[in-house]
Amino acid sequence: MEKIKVELGENSYDIFIGENLFEDAAKFAVSSNFSKKILIVTDENIFNIYGENLRKIFSKYESNFELEIIPPGETSKSLENAEKLYTCAIESQLDRKSVIMAIGGGVVGDLAGFVAATFLRGVNFIQVPTTLLAQVDSSVGGKTAVNHKLGKNLIGAFYQPKAVFIDVTTLKSLPERELKAGLGEVVKYGVISDANFFSYLEKNIEGILNRNVEVLKQIIKRSCEIKAEVVSKDEKESGLRKILNFGHTIAHAIEEETGYKKYCHGEAVAIGMIGAALISQKLGYVDAEKVTRLKNLIKNFGMYTHCEDCRIDGIYRALFRDKKTIGGKINWVLMKDFGIVEISDKVPEKIIKEALQEIGIMD
Ligand code: ADP
Ligand code: ZN
Repeated sequence: MEKIKVELGENSYDIFIGENLFEDAAKFAVSSNFSKKILIVTDENIFNIYGENLRKIFSKYESNFELEIIPPGETSKSLENAEKLYTCAIESQLDRKSVIMAIGGGVVGDLAGFVAATFLRGVNFIQVPTTLLAQVDSSVGGKTAVNHKLGKNLIGAFYQPKAVFIDVTTLKSLPERELKAGLGEVVKYGVISDANFFSYLEKNIEGILNRNVEVLKQIIKRSCEIKAEVVSKDEKESGLRKILNFGHTIAHAIEEETGYKKYCHGEAVAIGMIGAALISQKLGYVDAEKVTRLKNLIKNFGMYTHCEDCRIDGIYRALFRDKKTIGGKINWVLMKDFGIVEISDKVPEKIIKEALQEIGIMD
């Protein structure tokens, strides 16, 4: 089992990466200095695949666990579901030292984390992420949230877990598209922070797509290390953490313009990274050969390199509605080389629109 420490002073915690870790998560929950009351939150899909096993393991270690199963999908990240979880927590008499454990993708993690952050002003939280996206991104860094009908992730808190258990074997059952949703972020880490990691990805496309456990462990470990390092230096996103937004400015606009339906987050991020790289090239930050390498890696993962159903005007306007756009200035994360990025809010409109056109967005 690999261990990565996320350094956040008294909020520091470990990320464990390995195979068949449900049991380790259960042991951690009962053997730490927590109350013996655990609320496990998961979704129907995960429960159908792993429920039996979970029950067996948790019965062995803890007779005092409650299981809440939410429907799968983004709409479950709601205040209504948070309220259901509060009710369950109250009825099952969770106290301040109790544990809420999220077993699932980003939806389960964000919702359960938000409830853990707010119930009794904060109870112990443990993450067991089961999607690649949650393993390399949403479970690291302490962002928790629910959606409001007027926008995603608008209600939330920074709240760090006590530990994260990443069981890579759970990725075997993950639908293909969900794997790609995570790969977008994995490629991002290579660009923003580690040229060798980018090359590793180029050389291991087959292993990744075939879900070779050793290769998956490597890419998850390196991704978590990079995110942990960035988050340690900037927990609340005042500076450095912005680099994690590479590809996301255009991605958020594409997601919004296509109603969060056509492209999953990772796919939109992949297209957005190509757009940001093209802007970087047009500004003379990076040469064409490197932009082509990025595009080829995304293509070889079987992901979209172009966005087919958006218009320039719509996307351009949406860029200004991004949460990261402040005072009408878009904060672009631009690429200088693999492993080196720079933030700029001074990209001319003409260059942005040319780049949008090159990623297939129509006039
Ligand atoms: P994300 O982590 O991408 O934010 P979700 O929490 O919405 O995503 O999970 C994506 C989908 O994958 C959901 O339908 C969820 O039930 C399903 N899922 C999560 N983990 C697994 C897994 N290990 N095997 C199969 N399906 C899974
Ligand atoms: Zn993302």
